Amino acid sequence: MIRITIVLFLLLSVGLHAQEKYAEVTRDAPIRKDSLSSSSVIERVKSGVDLPLLEDRLFGTGYLKVRTPEDKVGYIYKSRVRVKTKPSSEVTSNVDQNGNLELHIINIGQGDAMIIRCPDGNHELLIDAAELNAGFRYSGSQTEFRNYMTDFQSKDNPIEVVVATHPHSDHIAGMSWIINNYTVGKYVDNGMPNTSGTYKSLERELDEHAINRLRLTDSLVPKIDFCPRADVNARILRPEGFDEPNIDPNNYSVIVRVDYGSSSFLFTGDAEVEMENKLIEDQNTVGLLDVDFLKVGHHGSHSSSKKPFLDVVTPAIAAISCGAETVGTNKGHKHPRMITVNALIPYLKNRNGMETTLEAYDKANRKWDRVSTKAALYITNNDGDLIFLSDGNEIWRKGDQ
Ligand SMILES: [Zn+2]
Repeated sequence: MIRITIVLFLLLSVGLHAQEKYAEVTRDAPIRKDSLSSSSVIERVKSGVDLPLLEDRLFGTGYLKVRTPEDKVGYIYKSRVRVKTKPSSEVTSNVDQNGNLELHIINIGQGDAMIIRCPDGNHELLIDAAELNAGFRYSGSQTEFRNYMTDFQSKDNPIEVVVATHPHSDHIAGMSWIINNYTVGKYVDNGMPNTSGTYKSLERELDEHAINRLRLTDSLVPKIDFCPRADVNARILRPEGFDEPNIDPNNYSVIVRVDYGSSSFLFTGDAEVEMENKLIEDQNTVGLLDVDFLKVGHHGSHSSSKKPFLDVVTPAIAAISCGAETVGTNKGHKHPRMITVNALIPYLKNRNGMETTLEAYDKANRKWDRVSTKAALYITNNDGDLIFLSDGNEIWRKGDQ
């Protein structure tokens, strides 16, 4: 184990040399001539500016040596910046060059965070924003989310549509960060208030930034086209009774369908059987459920993905976003459940003939168990970050044949 860690560390250190380090200014700050608080101010920088780091060490009582926007060399205090690494080929290199639609399901542990980018490479739809970093929720969730998003999308590229499926922290923890770091075209949520501190401060930030906010009950909401192309469509499904009073927030999840050409995706947030039944019973939504790709509801819980719903959806590919079994909130939730994994497998096409072993909690026998399958069921805690591509016809996992 120690040897593996050393090898990994060496690999990481070698990797860093190929990358450029910079300091992202997190609070407006002075840049000084020297690494002393008494030294004269040569320039002032605003929060959000990136400054190339000239040396990878601290000077004086905690100053970083940077190149200023006016091309001078100066020193900025460490608490005013966040040091980051920019791959040398960054910014547009991760746009799919072949004109495919991309779906990224980010491995943020026990929670949801996914982003879709249109085939033109410049319009995005974000659905949910990971869990709180705190150990009692899911340690590292926000770090993963922010790092992934920072690599995925430069801050001057707006996110056209953001959907917060429901106000639980494992879905909205990173929303404040998103609205503070990106221009958001439209922000859609289910309009359900929540008493948590995470939700209340997000509510304040949405107001302060005057974000164009739509609620699930608004008449305009079913259309959330994030891309002007005629062959890319996104809509919200609202079955009868979706807004019943006193409903569990999970069953008030914003349900999103995305189509590109003849390929289709369904995202059901944390919807459980009650919402699944509403969707299949309502004549206005049942015809929109048959898709190729299902982002499985509620992290693969036994409360979702029931047979009547799957019989209508008939997914060929499915993905579950959930945490490791021994970490944070998933110690209690125990997602995914074996009953759900086994319910999904018969519908799915093969993962290119490769067999994989999936882990899930078997409630009947009260233990974590394994299942070997060739089915195209992907789970973030097993497969890591998931990227799916669509050419408007087929959907496949990036890297698979
Ligand atoms: Zn959740």
